[in-house]
Amino acid sequence: MSPTPRVVQVAVPRPLRRLFDYQAPAGAAPIGARVRVPFGRAPLVGVVAAFRDDSPHALKAVQEVLDAEPLLPAHLMDLARWLSAYYHHPIGEVIDTMLPAKARRGAPAIPAVEFEWRPCDGAAEPDLRRAPRQAEALARLRALGRASDQNLARLGLARRTLALLAAKGLARREVAQRPAAPAGEPPSLRLTAAQAAAVDAITASLGTRTVHLLDGVTGSGKTEVYMRVIAETLRAGRQALVLVPEIALTPQTVARFQNRFGSVATLHSAVTDAQRFDTWLKCASGVHRVLVGTRSAVLAPLPSLGVIVVDEEHDASFKQTEGLPYSARDVAVKRAQMLAVPVVLGSATPSMASVENAASARYRHLRLPHRAGGASLPTFRVVDIRGARLDRGLCAESHQAIAAHLAAGGQALVFINRRGYAPVLLCERCAWRARCSHCEVNMTFHAKPRQLRCHQCDARLGVPQACPACGETAFALVGSGTQRAEEALVERHPGVPVVRIDRDTARSMRRLEADLDALRGGDPAILVGTQLLAKGHHLPGVTLVVVVDADYGFLAPDFSAPERTAALIVQVAGRAGRAQRPGEVLIQSFDPDNANLRALIKKGYPGFLAAERRIRAAAAMPPFTGMALIRARAKAANAARAALEAAAAALADDEVEVLGPAPAPVARRADLHRWQLFVIAPRRCLHRALTRLERANPQTPAASWSIDVDPLDAS
Ligand code: ADP
Ligand code: ZN
Ligand code: ZN
Repeated sequence: MSPTPRVVQVAVPRPLRRLFDYQAPAGAAPIGARVRVPFGRAPLVGVVAAFRDDSPHALKAVQEVLDAEPLLPAHLMDLARWLSAYYHHPIGEVIDTMLPAKARRGAPAIPAVEFEWRPCDGAAEPDLRRAPRQAEALARLRALGRASDQNLARLGLARRTLALLAAKGLARREVAQRPAAPAGEPPSLRLTAAQAAAVDAITASLGTRTVHLLDGVTGSGKTEVYMRVIAETLRAGRQALVLVPEIALTPQTVARFQNRFGSVATLHSAVTDAQRFDTWLKCASGVHRVLVGTRSAVLAPLPSLGVIVVDEEHDASFKQTEGLPYSARDVAVKRAQMLAVPVVLGSATPSMASVENAASARYRHLRLPHRAGGASLPTFRVVDIRGARLDRGLCAESHQAIAAHLAAGGQALVFINRRGYAPVLLCERCAWRARCSHCEVNMTFHAKPRQLRCHQCDARLGVPQACPACGETAFALVGSGTQRAEEALVERHPGVPVVRIDRDTARSMRRLEADLDALRGGDPAILVGTQLLAKGHHLPGVTLVVVVDADYGFLAPDFSAPERTAALIVQVAGRAGRAQRPGEVLIQSFDPDNANLRALIKKGYPGFLAAERRIRAAAAMPPFTGMALIRARAKAANAARAALEAAAAALADDEVEVLGPAPAPVARRADLHRWQLFVIAPRRCLHRALTRLERANPQTPAASWSIDVDPLDAS
């Protein structure tokens, strides 16, 4: 056995691209354990990342060892090292991102003890005829076998009733046993041939490094495929991880998995710090077998992980934009490969990167070309609105189509990817417009409540009585958001419920679900909303979808904007005609001859992607090359620019194309000036250049800079 190391190397949560040496403590401090160490003025919680025998530095001692066993198991430490290397991000910050907030603060790693109720066998049966609630609860508890304290409400059991049963010796409350691997309730559906082929291909690959691209139109039954594969994984004694976009993790989605697998753990932005740490610990100890979560769940400890599913793999919410800018989809693929387990990337509108990987046979391409249950896909129609009079964003044809579908007993969905009432408040005399004083953007006029809001920094202002520049009291409201369209729809269709869904109305998932549930009754109704509507919701009554502003995305300067816009249109359109009634999609456009739009309408998403692929390949843009974005933030524009000029110098090299520095599309946000630099190069050269940049570390006190590898957009 090697002698106890004398020096521990600790990753600390600071933007510093190195480990820090400390005298090893007397007791064990294994790799992956948290330690409290002196650092600067105050002690920090760090994680032991390595050992060495000697250090060139004068060493301070570790103050406290917080974990006797590694809190971050070896498989997560390996992943952390890969993340740090691939994203060129400081290791201490990577590890900090992995840890739940409570763990970062040094809380002990003790999972909460859970209690559950069980029926008692063999007790002499007292007469419950005069206590029908208790009789019912007992029957239910017997049918379930057990009911955990947290789930009582969901299972329709009242704690008080159970306590009364306990007093009679008919039930007992005890520490929950680790659940046996749930068998997976036998599904009643008969798989379509395409589904069966996909399930077979994926289950045959369990235990291998296979990436499957499950390319299935909306409603083709991808979720059913995931669940069969997960059931097989659980039977093999392994854990399963399912990643879904933030907005798709609805109670409806979770219930679908819960009904099939009994218990399902969830991780998303709305869970409390305490719940998150507890769930995390129970994933690590194997108590949880199925984890369904958003982006950050890809970093959760799952020691016997057997399969990863990424649903809606094209979705932008998988990319973290602040801090460690990782793509949960790409990390899922890497993690699966490190563990030699398969990963399933599912989408109706797969990303160009994934389709390219499938085309080059790095991924296996599985297709579900038809809707399950025989529903047909909607038909598309482009409405030329050049010179048309719009009533609050909608042209006459759209208003007529909505009326016709409502009259025929259908529901209509109006998609406007802009919340608020109007994006610009303009003085009618001098053209003054309301701008945010902290950001380089216009403020959006909101009617409910009446105020101006900055959609970048959330600043809010009262609406001025008169123009601050010239005193004029007449203002024009330019453009239309969801609130303005809602107003028009309410006015034109009296008596028909209009439900608006955007970030202002959907603060709570529960509210959103309740609103959508009301619509599932199927009576005529209108939904108006932003892309919140596009994701995963099953709205069987919708027969018409109106896309109000498709042009904006196709004309945006960002190279990946057309891809995201096309995906969004197809996803929104996919809400239509999911039941037996065929759907219709109207796309209003000022630019009906736009090549992207025409390709999408004529040849569908695959045709669009093929056309777009040629453009990107010719321009040598991702996925045909590597790209990184270097961002700088500073109080003074000059400082941000200077930091990037130094960065550009460090990056320069024959094989690397450096574009910039230039101001970011939002040049100032929350009082910080934002500049950026694009670095484009074949992947290997790109990583060499970024390593040079890390070494040069052109840090100035006046500006901070960060690296974003595989940026999604430049905002
Ligand atoms: P996707 O995830 O591809 O959008 P879902 O899995 O949500 O599709 O399936 C859409 C609908 O079709 C759901 O109501 C689901 O229960 C149903 N479905 C799935 N597979 C089948 C099948 N083999 N036969 C009949 N209905 C199915
Ligand atoms: Zn004015
Ligand atoms: Zn602002």
